[in-house]
Amino acid sequence: MTLPPLTIHYRGPLASCNYGCPYCPFAKRKATRREVLEDSAALERFVAWAETAPFALSVLFTPWGEALAYPRYQAAMARLSHLQHLQKVAIQTNLSGALGWLDQAHIQSIGIWATYHPTQTTRPRFLKRCAELRARGVSFSVGVVGAREHFAEIEAVRAALPAEVYLWVNAFFGRRAYYTPEELAWLSGIDPHFEFDTVRHRSRDQACAGGYTLISVDGDGTARPCHFLDTVIGNIYDADFAARLSPRPCTRHSCDCFIGYAHLERLELREVFGAGLLERNPFAGVRN
Ligand code: SF4
Ligand code: SF4
Repeated sequence: MTLPPLTIHYRGPLASCNYGCPYCPFAKRKATRREVLEDSAALERFVAWAETAPFALSVLFTPWGEALAYPRYQAAMARLSHLQHLQKVAIQTNLSGALGWLDQAHIQSIGIWATYHPTQTTRPRFLKRCAELRARGVSFSVGVVGAREHFAEIEAVRAALPAEVYLWVNAFFGRRAYYTPEELAWLSGIDPHFEFDTVRHRSRDQACAGGYTLISVDGDGTARPCHFLDTVIGNIYDADFAARLSPRPCTRHSCDCFIGYAHLERLELREVFGAGLLERNPFAGVRN
């Protein structure tokens, strides 16, 4: 029997970050040696499983904190990118780490979801990293949290990036009410898909990839339909795991984060983002 393709949102034990965003629980948190060892072992086990997994795989690393600054995640990305049965390996990152590891990667399989944090780095430094991704031919998106104090930087980054680099804006705490009608219109001019992020999408009983062709996996292999549902489907390291996957409607009232609602079928965002869905890049494979 041929199994349907599987997208995995992987989040291991890592919970630390080199940046210090004031609203974030992982800000400037350093991992203990024990935490590093646990995270490394979990990551190694996951990558080894992925190498022989019976699925056409797409993997998005969605760490609590910053992972791509660590050599173990860079190596995992590079290693996964060479698998014949891997469609894409992507990661959410603040783009603070050096990008030399891409020398070892199969570039066409790499996706980067980069977030610009204006209070934690300088615009020239961030843009330099973006230019390197472009020069290397990596599919990536750039985004900023749409807090009012970031508006000037959003405008400046949009002006500095080429039109073919998608700049997304996340609604501040997902709240449409935070914005005036003029601000909503301006932000929609920056990010044509911004409106999606200002809405709590009704999802209960709606068809979604979660639990069938999308799963969330933690460090010990426990699989759930997505990061937002606690229902345990099984464990990817169990021999019968593939049999646990089946179409199932969402059991949550609403879904308001891109990594979730992008898989809610009625929104048809797969058609919009295509091959760049994982790294949130609607221009993947269209423009470079
Ligand atoms: S870069 Fe991301 S993970 Fe790090 S402190 Fe800022 S919001 Fe938190
Ligand atoms: S709609 Fe959102 S919360 Fe519901 S299963 Fe899909 S990703 Fe999860």
